[in-house]
Amino acid sequence: MANKKNKLTTRILLGLALGLITGVILYNVPSHTIKDDVIIKGVFYIVGQVFLRAIMMMVVPLVFVSIVNGASNMGDIKKIGRIGMKTLVFYLATTAIAISIAIGLASIVNPGLGLDMASIVTKEPTIKDAVPLAEVIVDIIPRNPINAMASGNMLQIIAFALFIGVGLSALGEKVKILSSIFEQLNELMMKLVSFVMELAPVGVFCLIATTFATEGYAIMVPLFKYMITVIVALIIHGVVTYGSLLKVFTGLSPLRFFKQFFPAFSVAFSTASSSATLPVTIETVEDNIGVSKDIASFTLPLGATINMDGTAIMQGVATIFIAQVYGINLGFSEITTVIITATLASIGTAGVPGVGLIMLSMVLQSVGLPVEGIALIMGIDRILDMSRTAINITGDAVCTTVIAKSEGEFDEEIFNSTKELQLA
Ligand code: ASP
Repeated sequence: MANKKNKLTTRILLGLALGLITGVILYNVPSHTIKDDVIIKGVFYIVGQVFLRAIMMMVVPLVFVSIVNGASNMGDIKKIGRIGMKTLVFYLATTAIAISIAIGLASIVNPGLGLDMASIVTKEPTIKDAVPLAEVIVDIIPRNPINAMASGNMLQIIAFALFIGVGLSALGEKVKILSSIFEQLNELMMKLVSFVMELAPVGVFCLIATTFATEGYAIMVPLFKYMITVIVALIIHGVVTYGSLLKVFTGLSPLRFFKQFFPAFSVAFSTASSSATLPVTIETVEDNIGVSKDIASFTLPLGATINMDGTAIMQGVATIFIAQVYGINLGFSEITTVIITATLASIGTAGVPGVGLIMLSMVLQSVGLPVEGIALIMGIDRILDMSRTAINITGDAVCTTVIAKSEGEFDEEIFNSTKELQLA
């Protein structure tokens, strides 16, 4: 049994690799009913979506219950405030670093120089307007918490849950039963997540195979330099920024950290949604990394909602790319504006597929670049979305680990445990 548990990472990795190969092969098979209707839109669709929905089903109740629990167990409002502040500063700082790396690298590689625009426009853009920042801030407080839950508005759910948690902790012994009900509900949610994770290897396989079987790779050729720049910037941020933060602030081995975190990483990669991955992120960070439930249940939902380093990287490279394609020069003050806007845009970016691209319009507008430029990169965005989402949640986990360490809420034994995966 223990052995089976330990093999989860390997099984997911296998699902990922086989899914990629299968997808690429299927893409090259001429279209006919069996391939399209039976395999891609039939089996792969059903299994992939069942897996995805099974995790998503848990997001709202889990976020609500775990934040109520986390806040009520923290005891005093001062501690919640302190951890909240640390989290916010950390999230914003890493995002600003991420986008600076992206802009720096893009300025060296020049991904958009010498490109013929006609050869890369793939679709007409249908770009929704980005929400203004003031609206994002006001909108954190729900008018109606039930409505917030029904529509899955994460920041509003977090705000309401925090409020209840603070109330419970103020009442203390008087609400002992209610507090323990929340604790048990939390246990239940985590158990359900581990059941769903049993399905992860096949779920991941089907999601990845579908993406590659439908998107193909021919479309990527003219945008190759852009894609590679984004991916290299993601890797640099993941390895250098996160690696040094872990080393400096926690003294933990970054390599071991990434190994322990892999189940969540792979689910983020195949779903392209930080929100949908959240239950798995929480479980992985608690059970494999060793962060206490109180910290993880507070900082991770917040991170999945407001911290998007990978998305900021894509936006940085995309801004330089679009400027170059249109032959527009960006000066120092414009670059600074891009860094600030993209960092703030990260707060308003929902953790679901493709939103980063919509928020890119806000970044482009801030420096007067043509929003239509988004059409250039739309066709290949899914693949990059997968990669940046994996970095988005890694950033949440790294920050959570640093904070847990600084608060003395970290169990090194779990982190170093050879029974690496406790999931399922
Ligand atoms: N898909 C990303 C996420 O969920 C957001 C984005 O960049 O589109 O984290």
